[in-house]
Amino acid sequence: MAKISRNTFLKSAGAIGALGIISTSCNNIIKKNSETFSNTPEYEWKMVTTWPPNFPVLGEGCNLFAEWVYKMSAGRMKISPYGSGELIPGLQSFDAVSMGAVEMGHGAGYYWIGKFPASQFFTTVPFGMNAQEFNAWMYAGNGIKLWKEVYAEYNLVPFPAGNTGFQMGGWFNKEINSIEDLKGLKMRIPGLGGNVLARAGGTPVVSAGSEIYTNLERGVIDATEWIGPYHDYLMGFHEIAKYYYTPGWHEPQACLELIVNKKKYEDLPEDLQVIIETAAARSNIWMLSQFVAKNNEYLQKIENESKVEFKVFPDDVLQSLKVFTKDAINDIIGSDPTSKMVYEDQLKFRTGVSKWSNLSEKMYFDKLQ
Ligand code: CA
Repeated sequence: MAKISRNTFLKSAGAIGALGIISTSCNNIIKKNSETFSNTPEYEWKMVTTWPPNFPVLGEGCNLFAEWVYKMSAGRMKISPYGSGELIPGLQSFDAVSMGAVEMGHGAGYYWIGKFPASQFFTTVPFGMNAQEFNAWMYAGNGIKLWKEVYAEYNLVPFPAGNTGFQMGGWFNKEINSIEDLKGLKMRIPGLGGNVLARAGGTPVVSAGSEIYTNLERGVIDATEWIGPYHDYLMGFHEIAKYYYTPGWHEPQACLELIVNKKKYEDLPEDLQVIIETAAARSNIWMLSQFVAKNNEYLQKIENESKVEFKVFPDDVLQSLKVFTKDAINDIIGSDPTSKMVYEDQLKFRTGVSKWSNLSEKMYFDKLQ
């Protein structure tokens, strides 16, 4: 991936969301796809995304998805990905795919909590599972089954199609030594994490991606989370924040989704359905692998190029946040039966898988690394 400057990165940054997402335009893949096979595609589909075109990992992954589908189908299916704002604003993609105005979209379930709160449980839960465990719930537990059931009401078929892996706790200019230190703290932290911060006495602030750096620099906000070392470095937070906190309790992973219009998907021949499903699964592992590899590389850059101090949230702060998270989730599932159904299944799976993770990988990391 070509190196991009913070200015270029921010230029494309328009909006949204817990991942810290952005917008602009894209089309290279469309041209590229037209050259490999001589036959005319039987299906020419559009894919709207909540990312800027060629956005590191996420936009790049959507371009690759289209390329894989094209090649696996021997040119029978050509998908044109569009960045947020190119065809429609990214946050309208759910409705556009649901109505069939476009055939597919790529984004994250928790962008749709205004439509139905259960959607967030298909993306991430604070203090929830990590990427490996979440994928296990999706593919080998009831995750995909429940997801399909819930999204069918909106005429959509969902697939896991990317994951950020573990995120960082965020950038701060004051130390967090007790839960009291979160009182009055203005932090850019969306979603359920923001809900939890508010319960701890802080003020979650929604900032457009392009404004976070300036807001932090000017003290409009005291802290921000974003994704992890790679994307955070591109945003330049290491230039203006003193402390980089771990762990990202609010997003121990974030599963990204491919959504396909249900009617259009069901009208496809079976081999093309399987090709889409398979390419989505490849995107899922490709993006997660990219995040891990790039975060490793850019963590070293942050360490070498800045004076940022790495900090760990104290245990009692994390325990308090965990209690607030439980309260926040109880409020959601108490008023929404669909959220309750999804969350309880996830929690049951998680309870079992945590025992195994503790006995295996946690033990390995604690004892043997
Ligand atoms: Ca985030």
